[in-house]
Amino acid sequence: MKHLIDPTDLTREETDEIIALGEDIYEHPERYRESQKYRKLATLFYEPSTRTRLSFTSAMMELGGNVLGFADATNSSAAKGESVEDTAKVVSSFADIIAMRHHIEGAPYVASRVSPVPVINAGDGSHAHPTQTLTDLITIKRELGHIDGLTIGFCGDLRFGRTVHSLIKALTRYKDISIVLIAPDELRLPDYIKQDVCEKQGMPYREVRNIEDVMSELDVLYMTRVQKERFLDEEEFDRVKNSFVLDCRKMTLAKEKMAVLHPLPRVNEILPEVDADPRAAYFRQVEYGKFVRMALITCLLKWKDDPEHTMPENGETFHDRRFRCANMKCICNNENIPHSFKLTENGVVRCAYCDSKATVNK
Ligand code: ASP
Repeated sequence: MKHLIDPTDLTREETDEIIALGEDIYEHPERYRESQKYRKLATLFYEPSTRTRLSFTSAMMELGGNVLGFADATNSSAAKGESVEDTAKVVSSFADIIAMRHHIEGAPYVASRVSPVPVINAGDGSHAHPTQTLTDLITIKRELGHIDGLTIGFCGDLRFGRTVHSLIKALTRYKDISIVLIAPDELRLPDYIKQDVCEKQGMPYREVRNIEDVMSELDVLYMTRVQKERFLDEEEFDRVKNSFVLDCRKMTLAKEKMAVLHPLPRVNEILPEVDADPRAAYFRQVEYGKFVRMALITCLLKWKDDPEHTMPENGETFHDRRFRCANMKCICNNENIPHSFKLTENGVVRCAYCDSKATVNK
């Protein structure tokens, strides 16, 4: 069965199929109106969300299906101490497919291991957000006509921004992409993505501190919000919160044909004056997100019992008392499940749930 926990759970072909279907649904929504009649999507949201939850809800409704679930885990059995595994087992007897958002990293992965129905990661902590990635890819495709060969600038909170992590991983599947990372030192992209993703896959990247210096090179500028809720230290957040602000003056430095994306919500990193610029694609991006989620739900339900569409072999995971995961936001430090690890091709031991580097026990 195919779940979507990480963008690389989809092959390039599967990703292309979902995007192509998303575009077809966008062009001919009437053809799909009854296609998931009587099917049910459960949305289990343990962390605040506006766009993603409503986008999933509206996607399933437009396919003729039904939606059940919760938007606030304080109203669910989680408040009584139910584990993610148990919740997934229970909910899978009520729904055909599950979309889960969780502040704990690795929670949707743990759910997918026990669920007899497909599980979609709708965002886990600062780890991954693969359906935003599909949204970003379809937006780039529709705005610029292609994805291969582009120079993509990521600006803002590259440290905690899960949408950035997932999109960079997915971009390694495309040809001749080069990425520019625009962030202050405190918000730089985690090493595991630079080493295990960009370097391993041979995707060139460069780190800069100033947006003006690179603006004219970019085909896509991916702006992000500084993720206040992930900072442990408020002073650190205050120091970096206004690092980058995109305004009309900076837009004059950009190519005529380029696209500004933002996963939203924005705080102050894009001034409202930019919204009227035809290159500002972030509100169209929200709309494409619904169509690509319609396509994703359709494909995962279609692929459910198809042996051609299974989860990738990501190498063995193992338990080893010499190591522990030190990420306090990881599921293995929040629920009663054993710490589990994987060895990357670069020889680094990483947590199998959240990807952080394993700590050696003393
Ligand atoms: N909506 C995106 C997310 O859920 C981006 C953000 O919150 O800044 O990660």
